[in-house]
Amino acid sequence: MSRNQPISSFHPPRRMLMGPGPSDVHPRVLAAMAQPTVGHLDPAFIGMMDEVKALLQLAFRTGNELTMPVSGPGSAGMEACFVNLLEPGDTAIVCINGVFGTRMRENVERCGAKAVVVEDAWGTPVDPDKVAAALKANPGAKLLAFVHAETSTGVRSDAATLCKLARERGVLTIVDAVTSLGGIPVLVDEWNADAVYSGTQKCLSCVPGLSPVTFGPRAVEALSKRKAKGQSWFLDFSLITAYWGGGAKRAYHHTAPVNTLYALHESLVMLEEEGLENAWARHARMHEGLKAGLEAMGLSLLVAPDSRLPQLNAVTVPAGIDEAQVRSQMLSRYGLELGAGLGALAGKIWRIGLMGQSATPGHVTACLGGLEAVLAEMKAPIEIGAALPAASKVLFP
Ligand SMILES: *Cc1c(COP(=O)(O)O)cnc(C)c1O
Repeated sequence: MSRNQPISSFHPPRRMLMGPGPSDVHPRVLAAMAQPTVGHLDPAFIGMMDEVKALLQLAFRTGNELTMPVSGPGSAGMEACFVNLLEPGDTAIVCINGVFGTRMRENVERCGAKAVVVEDAWGTPVDPDKVAAALKANPGAKLLAFVHAETSTGVRSDAATLCKLARERGVLTIVDAVTSLGGIPVLVDEWNADAVYSGTQKCLSCVPGLSPVTFGPRAVEALSKRKAKGQSWFLDFSLITAYWGGGAKRAYHHTAPVNTLYALHESLVMLEEEGLENAWARHARMHEGLKAGLEAMGLSLLVAPDSRLPQLNAVTVPAGIDEAQVRSQMLSRYGLELGAGLGALAGKIWRIGLMGQSATPGHVTACLGGLEAVLAEMKAPIEIGAALPAASKVLFP
């Protein structure tokens, strides 16, 4: 590499993050992160770890003792659930209705287990009837895995029903709640879900890099009854719990990301201050405001109303419009980041995230105003001047 200038400090631009994550991080969380690093076995830090566990139990609505953040992004939490619960030769039923279900299958296969796939079209929820049929046809299946909030399409699946179907057959569940936690109800104990993982940079509005995971009693039992050690040393919960387990005595496993955990602690404190139900209601209200504005402009949402995620809005790109150019204009002019479509939906949708600190009237209004200006210049067939009044009516009735 050749360069003429010395490398100096990095100064990121100011953005409004309205894509599929990360979402905007509150200054309180950033300030928490800038506090002095302490040892990961420091008694003061261990006290904070216990608070993080307690706050995560509240967020997940669970009493599960094994509730902790895995040191790694959401994908690490996903992998941790599979490598701890699956052994070679096991069978897992995997629901695929978007990108993240596809990754679940990849995890199952890399564990040496057999994946029985239940497929649904991208943009639609997991079909419980198909899952019931797959459970019936595979009586030896060890677990059922599905994505609660499919971020690639903006679809919510019926986690309560899917967990119930699995429970009736004595099958364990792995639930991806990366995009759902903090944005819509994730009711781990009420659902009887066995293993649930999430991420910090979506509706929790923390920095990326941690993955909250919770294991219920049946998952803990399956872990303790393994025939052989799992293939991952780093993600082995039987080792990690010696660090994250209760009491003052902690054994070194790996060096916890100390400052990132300060950030998670602060974001969870903020969630508690707001109240979990209030956070769900805020996400729902911002979604209603955005939807009213988009529809008044003449744009439409991809997903049917009863399975739409408030925190991830898949918007159909009008015919003849270059969706990438719109996103690039939104970023360069307004500092506003939108998400692109993936896979079969590439070029066909925008993904507008309203997650955590990015779910505010200011974000909704900036997004609608910017989209209107950019689309009007591109001569898209939209209604001018209708979006903001329509959104205001919903946001400020
Ligand atoms: C973002 C996301 C993941 C992966 O999380 P990373 O932090 O990017 O590893 C997994 N599942 C869903 C549904 C997600 O939205």
